[in-house]
Amino acid sequence: MMGFDAPYVPGYDCHGLPIETIVEKKLADKGKNKNDIPVASFRRICREHASTAMNGQTRDFQRLGILGEWQTPYLTMSAEYESSTARLFGKFLERGFVYKGLRPVYWCIHDQTALAEAEVEYREHTSPSVYVKFPLKTDPAEIDGALAGKNVFVVIWTTTPWTLPANLGITVHPDFDYSAIEVPDAEVFIVASELAKAFSETCGFAEYEEIAKFKGSKLDRMEAKHAWLDRTSLIMNGDHVTLGEADAEVELDVRFENKSAAKSGTGCVHTAPGHGADDFAISKKYGLEIYAPVDAAGRFTPEVEHFAGEDVFTANSKIVTFLRETGALVHSETYAHRYPHCWRCKNPVIFRATPQWFVSMDEAVDGASPTKPSSR
Ligand SMILES: [Zn+2]
Repeated sequence: MMGFDAPYVPGYDCHGLPIETIVEKKLADKGKNKNDIPVASFRRICREHASTAMNGQTRDFQRLGILGEWQTPYLTMSAEYESSTARLFGKFLERGFVYKGLRPVYWCIHDQTALAEAEVEYREHTSPSVYVKFPLKTDPAEIDGALAGKNVFVVIWTTTPWTLPANLGITVHPDFDYSAIEVPDAEVFIVASELAKAFSETCGFAEYEEIAKFKGSKLDRMEAKHAWLDRTSLIMNGDHVTLGEADAEVELDVRFENKSAAKSGTGCVHTAPGHGADDFAISKKYGLEIYAPVDAAGRFTPEVEHFAGEDVFTANSKIVTFLRETGALVHSETYAHRYPHCWRCKNPVIFRATPQWFVSMDEAVDGASPTKPSSR
């Protein structure tokens, strides 16, 4: 564009999971498993696969008449390329840009890998949608005198029942109005005032009576009891809680509780620190543990009562049944929505906190040298 004659150098990205996935499939066709062959052999097979694909593409491009430096393409699997990558990584490491942190990320339980936001695709998916009651542990009289001696619950809504074993909190908006509504059977439910009517209709309560109304800030740091586990669920205040007007299309999380289509939910957001971006942020703020009792294959870890070893997607319906049997379920239905899927294997993904290596981009990395390394 500046008037110089720039030669076209073809380049090939020879690395990555797509190649690994194809080679794994080829091995499986021959009845072999990747885990049974040495790593070096697996790498060699991947290299051969990449070379074959590259030679075929080079031949096709040349036949199409594309002019370029075909004798000296750049290849990400060439030793020169790999060594310069290693050298630059060494510089990052030396300057302290490389760190390990526990962060919730998109996770494909099929490929057993983290996915970047650009690597998920939104597709139609039907999830269970459940309203679950958490008994208030704090004396309800502290909220309002009218609640003294009542059987009070905070009701949450979720489309990912499998995240309930990881629940450590409930988030409410400090500025929203919340109502304590008494339904038949002398139970009192706390939900956002604006959603009380829709909630009652959805859950089939023909009649209810509002016996107290208060701001969400009143509930801050009060405690509920987990729906079935012997564990406290901390009530927190967070500005990310909405009353459900947000467009589900722009959803960037697998957790839909607070951003779903209009009038679903209760304004009381089930919070699992290790399984959601907003959950992670608010839980950090309140000092909750970043708890994610799900392994790389998407199975509950042994410490999860009742559901250890279960695949999370299979566990969904079992948890709903369990909630119904234990009386914690207020209502359940199915919910069709757009849900993130893995771009490689097309399976639905989950959100899961894992230890990840990061290269910090907070510093100026001009030629890999921050301007004032000592001042930070
Ligand atoms: Zn996948």
